[in-house]
Amino acid sequence: MREIDTDYLVVGGGASAMAFTDALLAASDARVVLVDRRHRPGGHWLDAYPFVRLHQPSAVYGVSSRPLGHDRIDESGSNASFYERAGANEICDYFSKVLDEQFLPSSRVRFLGLHDYRGVDGDGHHVMSLLTGEQTTIRARKLVDATYIESEIPSRHRPSYSVAAGVRLVAPNQLVDLDAPPGGFTVIGAGKTAMDTCNWLLDAGVDPDRIQWIRPRDPWLFNRGSFQPRRLVGSYMQLQARWVEAAAQAEDGMDFARRLHAAGIFLRIDPQVEPEVYRGPIISTRELDALRTVERVVRQGRVRGVESRRIELEQGEVATQPDTLHVDCTAAGVRSATPRTIFAGDRIKARYGTITGATWSAATLGMIEATRDNDADKNRLTPPVAFTGNAADLLQFSYAAMSGLYARTAESDLATWSESCRLNPASGAVERAGEPEIAGAFTSLMTNFGPATRNLAARVGKAGATPGD
Ligand SMILES: Cc1cc2nc3c(=O)[nH]c(=O)nc-3n(C[C@H](O)[C@H](O)[C@H](O)COP(=O)(O)OP(=O)(O)OC[C@H]3O[C@@H](n4cnc5c(N)ncnc54)[C@H](O)[C@@H]3O)c2cc1C
Repeated sequence: MREIDTDYLVVGGGASAMAFTDALLAASDARVVLVDRRHRPGGHWLDAYPFVRLHQPSAVYGVSSRPLGHDRIDESGSNASFYERAGANEICDYFSKVLDEQFLPSSRVRFLGLHDYRGVDGDGHHVMSLLTGEQTTIRARKLVDATYIESEIPSRHRPSYSVAAGVRLVAPNQLVDLDAPPGGFTVIGAGKTAMDTCNWLLDAGVDPDRIQWIRPRDPWLFNRGSFQPRRLVGSYMQLQARWVEAAAQAEDGMDFARRLHAAGIFLRIDPQVEPEVYRGPIISTRELDALRTVERVVRQGRVRGVESRRIELEQGEVATQPDTLHVDCTAAGVRSATPRTIFAGDRIKARYGTITGATWSAATLGMIEATRDNDADKNRLTPPVAFTGNAADLLQFSYAAMSGLYARTAESDLATWSESCRLNPASGAVERAGEPEIAGAFTSLMTNFGPATRNLAARVGKAGATPGD
């Protein structure tokens, strides 16, 4: 049995683990062992469907110390006039380079791929090779659980509904591998994967009438036009300003969402249907226009079972055909979470600590871990921001996010780091404060931040994070 001593054992080698480790290494002299069941870093991106892309610009994704992509603004397609967005191969290649060209040569990081974390006892933490069965005991000062945000993805997901023998049901991954054209397509799911799938089919020339879309509950979506960094950071500052303005006035989560919709920050697929779900996906209005051409939308609750000629739903049934290809897009992607404390003694749960971006959030946690001594301080700086999935919880979500942002901005070293960190969508705004869009956003933020935090505190402030789990 092998034994390793280290400062941090990071379980998970996905984007969160990589961004956390990168920030920790940059701000401390810590040594890290990264362990993942997968063979290389990248997490869920290694198994993603081939036409997946980041929701957000590559410019603000990845690790702080290395750019992803070229900060190019796309000139054509549904992302035209917005910053480029990497696909899965580019993201996986990027994280491999971070590991191979930065982490490993530093001699401060070891990566144990194809290793499963098995738990801890008096001897230390135990991991096992999934290839050889060899056990390794790791003695570490701290355990970082970077599996918490772990995305549920279609290719590793088993549908919760029954599927009769002979029914053609695939994950989106298999759409690029068909032998013959199906009679039609039925897309099952209401989230970003289903939207990506419909958009990909439409882009590939499938007539919208050949797509049936089973969409039990519509989600609120972020307008990608409001989520642009760098030269377009004014758009993101306007998003922040509208967010805080809404927070100053909202009576509840749904009212908050409606205000952001009126301000053009939130979008919805169907103007007639008010969404109740919020998981933070980002979409362009061009993609949305394309999605609206799919008119065969089924809203009768979740699927219970698929047979060769009928689909049973919670509130009824619809017809299907034996030659229809059913595409399962019901994996949750971003899982529902409850707010739990992030820093707890020798354990760190890498949950969302900022409102935008998994890697911006994880890097912030790494920076705080490296530069703060006690847990109370660290937790004050990063109240957990939990995606419960319900738009009704948006006030609670905003309160945590804004309290954390306020606390970090008040500490000059963190404010300076944030301003310079490439993962921060607001980075660079201070330098461009003279531009009218940014100046207007700062004025609005200064006017509304106090009333917003008071309104949120009065409405949801008492419900905080619960310790550990
Ligand atoms: C299609 C899609 C698009 C997205 N786009 C964006 C975006 O644009 N911007 C954004 O910020 N977020 C986006 N997200 C959210 C996404 O979840 C994060 O960006 C990020 O990739 C999550 O990384 P992670 O490391 O937290 O989780 P994962 O990538 O799921 O990695 C967790 C890792 O932990 C490992 N693991 C779990 N248990 C164990 C164990 N016991 N032992 C060893 N290893 C273990 C797993 O093998 C896995 O590799 C998107 C998600 C999806 C599904």
